[in-house]
Amino acid sequence: MKYVLISGGVVSGLGKGVTASSIGVVLKACGLRVTSIKIDPYLNIDAGTMSPFEHGEVFVLDDGGEVDLDLGNYERFLDVTLTKDNNITTGKIYQSVLEKERRGDYLGKTVQVVPHITDAIKDWVQSVAAIPVDGQEGPADVCVIELGGTVGDIESMPFIEALRQLSFSVGPDNFCLIHVSLIPVLGVVGEQKTKPTQHSVRELRALGLTPHLLACRSAEPLLQNTKDKLSQFCHVPVENILNIHDVPNIWHIPLLLRNQNAHHSILQQLNLLEKATSPALQQWTKMAETYDNITDSVKIAMVGKYVGLTDSYLSVIKALLHACVALSLRPSIDWIAASDLEDDSAKSTPQAYATAWETLKRANCVLVPGGFGDRGVKGMMLAAKYARENNVPYLGICLGMQISVIEFARSVLGLERANSVEFDAQTPNPVVIFMPEGSRTHMGSTMRLGSRRTLLQTPDCITSKLYGNSAYVDERHRHRYEVNPDVIRTLEEAGLKFVGKDETGNRMEILELPSHPYYVGVQFHPEFKSRPARPSALFLGLILSATGKLEAYVSRRQNGS
Ligand code: GLN
Repeated sequence: MKYVLISGGVVSGLGKGVTASSIGVVLKACGLRVTSIKIDPYLNIDAGTMSPFEHGEVFVLDDGGEVDLDLGNYERFLDVTLTKDNNITTGKIYQSVLEKERRGDYLGKTVQVVPHITDAIKDWVQSVAAIPVDGQEGPADVCVIELGGTVGDIESMPFIEALRQLSFSVGPDNFCLIHVSLIPVLGVVGEQKTKPTQHSVRELRALGLTPHLLACRSAEPLLQNTKDKLSQFCHVPVENILNIHDVPNIWHIPLLLRNQNAHHSILQQLNLLEKATSPALQQWTKMAETYDNITDSVKIAMVGKYVGLTDSYLSVIKALLHACVALSLRPSIDWIAASDLEDDSAKSTPQAYATAWETLKRANCVLVPGGFGDRGVKGMMLAAKYARENNVPYLGICLGMQISVIEFARSVLGLERANSVEFDAQTPNPVVIFMPEGSRTHMGSTMRLGSRRTLLQTPDCITSKLYGNSAYVDERHRHRYEVNPDVIRTLEEAGLKFVGKDETGNRMEILELPSHPYYVGVQFHPEFKSRPARPSALFLGLILSATGKLEAYVSRRQNGS
């Protein structure tokens, strides 16, 4: 196994994840099999308990892992299926060591950060790197490891030490370190400053790691003289100084790296030049360039709770992007804070209320994404009602589906207090209830997580047609509450159809309103499996419908053309 470690210096938020994924893309384009590991030095066991406000979206894997959103970037860029073990956190490492300690595995020894924690990190990295993630057998050729945080952080020290030891034990031919750094520009003359990078490389070297390549983030391309200076002071050959300057869209980054011969430097370091081919990135180039030239756009109203930080819905945004690009459109996403649509906001913040409603009414389609807690729920219901009554295409994901059910029960069935027990434990009409897969009394791990099968109930529904008339779909889940099976008949008789159910027939997975051009709610999260060249069927349906092309598309597919 060959390792490419990506570390970061100077500041956080440099786009290390995108850099690491892009390096993976270039290596894959050279005919190598690539896997990846993300290290998050925080103490949480996983991202599941972290707020999307603070940390961005919680990405969900097939195996139910709730992980850092960078794993989503890896899955999308490399087209792989990762496991929860591909995301290492300090919490997971300590948990495993402490469990062993309690079992008595350390036989009377003093358990210490070095060697016990560092050994656990090395073992974890090496065993996870060997798991095939691309559907083929046997381990990949290269494992890209992204070390979260910034070099010098107290939290990442044990990881740096473990990776230093790893680099030593696997030998120089099997280890390549790429340090991502920032080159700021100061003053009126606009000089590119190398000092912060020099300092962070010095810090790295003091910890025993020497970067083989530097990936320098900057607004404008680096000047030759800046590169020369970096090379001289950081002890990195000038041809190994890569520059990631601002580009029109992130699909350009693998191309930028290829144009600077990054693959050559990495392959040389890893002694892989003979095995690798020259990078085949034709499809990728087409995708990046096509997107730059798209002029038409489609307006999507995103009505959610966490609208302050776009990373909170990263995969939803990516899935919209994939669907739009497939139809030669540019997504124009209008964020609406759900609570701004509520009646209370008309009085307390009239301007925000007016803008929210104007934005909603101008949109070509409405999307209500997943979420937890009752904030903004009334506003989401108003958005769902507006879309339902005005024939505006609607996609409700997870919470968005539950919202549709509550709204329909209230408006159409006249059950004014219909609700989810998540929001009103005492509701007389619980249309969304707690239905754990395991025990109802056991408290921990009651979320339904990861890939589950949905059986499509009839070929005669829009979802089935969009999914290519398949009898079933496997999509990823992350929820605790579900549509109450006792109310299905009443809802269906009033026109809301449940066209996708789980294998038991008790869990509602997909709803549709046949009388509406496109009104779809799903209990799962289709965004997590969307890929650049393979958009999610339901996002595609939403955008097709928003642009009046859904019927033509479906009949073309039905005729096999
Ligand atoms: N809060 C809802 C539930 O737990 C929806 C979850 C979600 O949207 N991911 O079922």
